[in-house]
Order: sequence, then C-alpha cells, then structure tokens
Amino acid sequence: MTLSPDAKRFHDVAGRLSLPSQAFIDGRFQAAHSGRTFETLNPATGNVIGLVAKAEAADVDLAVTAARRSFRDGSWSRCAPEHRKSVLLRLAQLVRDHAEELAVLESIDSGKTITDCLAEIGEHVPTFFQWYGELADKSFGKVAPTGEDALALILKEPVGVVGLVLPWNFPLLMAAWKLAPALACGCSTVVKPAEQTPLSALRLAELAMEAGLPAGVLNVVPGFGETAGQAIGRHRDIDVVSFTGSTEVGALFLRYASESNLKPVGLEMGGKSPLVVLDDAEIDDHLISNAVSAACWNGGQNCSANMRQIVHAKQKEAFLQKVVEGVTALKVGDPLDPETQMGAMVTHEHMERVASYVDKGRREGARVAYANDGKHGQGFFLNPTVFDGVTPDMAIAREEIFGPVLGVIEAADNAEALDIALDTPYGLHASVFTRDMDKAMHFARRLPCGTVSINCFSEGDVKTPFGGYKQSGSLARDNGVEAMDQYVQTKTVWFHLKPTG
Ligand code: NAD
Repeated sequence: MTLSPDAKRFHDVAGRLSLPSQAFIDGRFQAAHSGRTFETLNPATGNVIGLVAKAEAADVDLAVTAARRSFRDGSWSRCAPEHRKSVLLRLAQLVRDHAEELAVLESIDSGKTITDCLAEIGEHVPTFFQWYGELADKSFGKVAPTGEDALALILKEPVGVVGLVLPWNFPLLMAAWKLAPALACGCSTVVKPAEQTPLSALRLAELAMEAGLPAGVLNVVPGFGETAGQAIGRHRDIDVVSFTGSTEVGALFLRYASESNLKPVGLEMGGKSPLVVLDDAEIDDHLISNAVSAACWNGGQNCSANMRQIVHAKQKEAFLQKVVEGVTALKVGDPLDPETQMGAMVTHEHMERVASYVDKGRREGARVAYANDGKHGQGFFLNPTVFDGVTPDMAIAREEIFGPVLGVIEAADNAEALDIALDTPYGLHASVFTRDMDKAMHFARRLPCGTVSINCFSEGDVKTPFGGYKQSGSLARDNGVEAMDQYVQTKTVWFHLKPTG
C-alpha cells in the first residue's frame, strides 16, 4: 500500500504507540484478578493489536471498593468546587496536548477515521472536561420560601459511586459525555468501555491522575458485557448507572437494578431516526451533504443516524439522484489517511450483520440505487448502500442497522411524511428540511424525540441535552446542565428558627 505523506505520519505514530493493557483501579494499572486477557483488534487490518486485562466481577468489586473509599474520604466528593474545576481544566488541557496520540489510538482500536478521531478528541472531549469543570463552581442549590421561623435549604450532593457503561462507536467521546459531569458533581466512577474499544478510556484514566484526580475516583475495568457489565449493573454498592448502548442491553440494566439495589439507571440507547424532506425544501449541496453524513458519518455506526430518509413525492427523484452522487463520492478506506471519510466497521461480526440487512432489503423488494463491492484491504470494510422504494413496513425501515444503509421512503405529502416519521418505537433524533418556519416548528413539536435538527443533521453540542424518548432512552440526559441531574441527589435541610430580639 502506498501511503500519502499525511497517512504515513499517522501510521508512524501508530507504530510508536505503547498501548495500555491493564485495568486501571485505585490509581494504578493492574492485571485482572483472574490473570486473564482478551484481544483487541485493529478493524482496518483485522490484526490483533494488543492483549487487555479481562476484568470480571472480582475486578469490578475492587474498583467499586476503591471508588467508595475515595468517595468517603472526601478528597474529591467534598473538596472545594474550585479544586474540582482546576483538575478538570488541567485534564482538558492534557487531552489537547495528547490529542494526536489519543486519536491514533482510538482510530486503530475502532476503525474510525483519523479525521473524526482528531475532531472528537482534539476538540470535543476537552470541551466537555472544560465546560463541566467550569460548571463545578457555578452550580447552586436553592432556598425554599418559608416563614421567618424556618430556613429550608435544598442541596445538591454527589450521588456517590457511579457505574458508566459505554459503547464502541464514540469510545472516548462517550466516556467524556458521562465522566465530565459525574466528576464535576464530585462522584467517584467505575467506567466500563466496550470490549471492542478499551484502549482510549484506559489512557484517559492515566491522564486524569496526571491532572491531579485522587486515586480511586476514576477506575476503568475493560471487559465483556455479560461479566464486567453485568457485575456493574448488579453491584449493590454502586449508587447509579449511566449506560449508553443498545436498547436490548439497556433493558437488562433495568433488570439488574431491580434484582439488586434498585439503583437509578440512566439509559441512552438505540434509534431509527428519520430525516424528512418536505415539499418546499431546497435540494441543494448543503441538504445533500447533511443527508449523506446523516447516514454514513462514522460508517453509519451512530445512534442518531438518519437511515430513514422520508422525502416528499415531488422532491424524491431530485433528492435520490443527488444523494447517490454524494454517497458515490465518499472515500472509504484506510482510517489513518486524512482523506478517508469512512473507515472500517468495528468488528467482522458487525460488518456481517450490517451486510445481512443489505440482503434483507433486497429480499424485501427495495431497489438498490447505489452499491459498490470494491475492496479496501483485509479489514472489516463495507461500502455504503442506498435503497430506493423502501416502505415503512420493511425491516430495513424499522430496525436499527447501525451501518451505512440509507433507505429512501417516498411520502405522498407532508402529513404522510410525519406519519411515517412517527411510526417507530424509537425517539432519539430527527432531521427536518424545509424553508418554512411554521412547518419546521410543527414537525419539531409533533416528533417525540430528544433532538430535532432543522435544516441540518446535528446532535447539538455540549450545552444542549441529548437523550431519547420512547425506547431510545430514559428521562436521563447526557450533555447540557441537565446531565448533572444524573449524578446528584437532592437533599432538604429544614431549620427551625427561634424568633430573637
Ligand atoms: P451494546 O448494548 O452491545 O453494548 C454497550 C455496552 O454494554 C458495552 O460496554 C457492552 O460491553 C455492555 N454490555 C453488553 N452486553 C451486556 C450485558 N449482557 N450486561 C451488561 N452489559 C452489557 O451496544 P454497542 O453495540 O456497544 O453500541 C451500539 C448501540 O449503542 C447502538 O444501539 C446505538 O444506537 C447505541 N448508542 C446510543 C447512544 C445514545 O446516546 N443514545 C450513543 C451511542 C450509541
């Protein structure tokens, strides 16, 4: 393979990386209690890049013990909020300083493009630590109105030890979405990265110690869902779990909680989000590049991806032609090449699962408007597919595929477009394109989902809450001031005051 100079530079960085391989518990790296390890692969080559400690229930227990001890000793949970702020700001800066190393680590562990990894890790991850660090000393309690014989304080206290269970599609970004507010609130944490992508969270834990986080406040237990994940879900000394992943596993966390200590569980789960093009939308380059990103960004491995693209009948042909042109132009291949726009699927198994939906779409009678069986090396690469003639009853229109399979559904009019958009058990995100503000607001109000983006494909930013209605989430939200609610308890302190003087 001939590499461009930029790609070669990132391959060289990859060659020099020393990969974390142990669990991070109580401020230090350590082997799994059992001594077992598991392989982590580079999806772009299919090769094993390292062995990682296989944390199981005993390791989760050690991590929870360390987290509880650190929570009780108060070095983080009861310290001055200005101190928490300064540590989180230092961590933000350390992530920026190590952005290239972390981005390459993320790319080789996940198959994500280096361009996306640099944006996520160089810009967004530090922004989260900075923004929540800044909030740490600006979050106030309340005083309730009372007569003069009383004083009623409403206090917000860190909830305690929180378990953070993460997916593989945005490994470090999802860690930051949860860790930044949890740490800003003063909680101690046990993080379980997805088994497919354990490396970046481990390296982050090391940087957090360098930033001054006390030992035990941030523990990382790399391991599998059924063992390490379940041990977190069922642990009686974990006060709250915040989970991001599939709806199926989210439901298991509710069961684990009900069968253990009734811990609250914040759930951010799957989706089958619509993108709706109304009768008056302009089918211009902006709309098309957003529609293509909505389906193909991160290889379609994105919870808020818009795979159901519902288009008004009079716009359908123009839209389809341009969206196919847009998808055709996408550069799929070596994730470490900055020119690449779509890297590899995370695992061979996931690639096969997505490919099986392409077969299913064909069998269901959808028309293939774009497909490409070009190869990109030994890894888990899958080119995008565009289906036309998708109907709302097809599996490819109903089930979360989590890969680059864009389905165009024609709607007779705007009202039918809304009915089709509503016809899903999920409620994470929707994109609506129109030039008419009234229509935009009508759709925004009617769509039961956590985020509606108008005339763009967007998940908002650090300041705006993100989460799902229906089977995409619980009432918990990541991001925004609202994320803090997952990690605090509310306490009333009622004083009886004697009249004096
Ligand atoms: P997943 O549900 O398979 O795994 C998520 C996490 O749960 C992993 O850490 C995994 O090890 C753990 N897990 C798996 N089985 C478990 C079990 N039996 N008990 C306890 N823990 C278990 O999800 P995934 O494949 O890693 O990620 C893809 C899913 O995540 C998609 O459905 C996607 O929509 C969703 N997602 C949602 C958001 C959001 O904010 N709503 C963001 C990213 C991804």
